[in-house]
Amino acid sequence: MLIKIKKSAHAGDIQMIRQLLNRHNLGHRVINAGTETIIGVEANPSEEIARELNALSAVESAMPIATPYKLASLAAHPEKTVIRIGNIEIGGEAIVLMAGPCAIESQEQLEAVAEGLKGTGVSVLRASAYKPRTSPYSFQGMGEEGLKLHVSAKAKHGLLIETEVMDVRDVALVAAHVDIIRIGARNMQNFDLLKEVGKCGKPVILKRGMSSTIEEWLMSAEYIIAHGNPDVILCERGIRTFENATRSTLDLSSIPVLKRLTHLPVIVDPSHAAGRKDLIPALSAAAIAAGADGLLVEVHANPKKAKCDGKQALLPIEWAELVCLLKKVALAMGRSI
Ligand code: PEP
Ligand code: MN
Repeated sequence: MLIKIKKSAHAGDIQMIRQLLNRHNLGHRVINAGTETIIGVEANPSEEIARELNALSAVESAMPIATPYKLASLAAHPEKTVIRIGNIEIGGEAIVLMAGPCAIESQEQLEAVAEGLKGTGVSVLRASAYKPRTSPYSFQGMGEEGLKLHVSAKAKHGLLIETEVMDVRDVALVAAHVDIIRIGARNMQNFDLLKEVGKCGKPVILKRGMSSTIEEWLMSAEYIIAHGNPDVILCERGIRTFENATRSTLDLSSIPVLKRLTHLPVIVDPSHAAGRKDLIPALSAAAIAAGADGLLVEVHANPKKAKCDGKQALLPIEWAELVCLLKKVALAMGRSI
């Protein structure tokens, strides 16, 4: 259940509601979302308790929600969430293009990609300073030095920037540098990290865990929202299946499924799904056709020399060609790039 509190309510009124919930052993959390106060209740109470709650003068509405995720559900929030950052809108009519290298490797490397993306409709430069690597011997990212290079590229090229955070201890530092924080697939259920980014004040791209169901994914989004951050962007990046022709299997059906379950924007990362660059055009076009609000694509000026994920990185010229195709698909879907 979600209990919306009236703006005129006092702290004492909220305390009274909480006591009532405690008396009935109903786990709950008070959420301050901008000017609104909401109490998220773990379960749906009986009709009698619901009536009791609705009768309280401080309660605007006490609404039962059938799904385990409440704040992320379309039932609780029938209007689509549109996240405004700078002069872009994520979840609006326009498809948002985010592109860049897997990792920040040097100033020259980041510069070359940012330069190559010029004029291709990209509004967000993706790049990671902290890298989750399967091998402890692989390049782990440039850390804070990388964040600084990212900020310089932002200033020079007028792009917004997004990057991954992996460690609770780095959240404040990363949030101070970038416009959008990314939670990678491997950390989708790192609940302490989700709580921390819930408090960071920056929009969050939440990637789908590679073995996670859509419901588990939405529960992770719920953690971030319940800890005070409503600006969550879901990113489908492929899931593990028996198929090994691709690195992961891009679950295109998750896009229309999510559109029926949640008000949150949905973007797609075809690069980590495919793990090979020849499939990126088809998967990107299909993602837009399926209703995605944006794309997150790896582009590198010299993929052969890339410190990670070179095989799936497009050259800037290939990306520019792909955008020409994507504009047509967007138009066919009644959207723009
Ligand atoms: C990434 O986007 O850099 C990344 C590591 O992707 P994922 O978390 O989806 O594997
Ligand atoms: Mn990568």
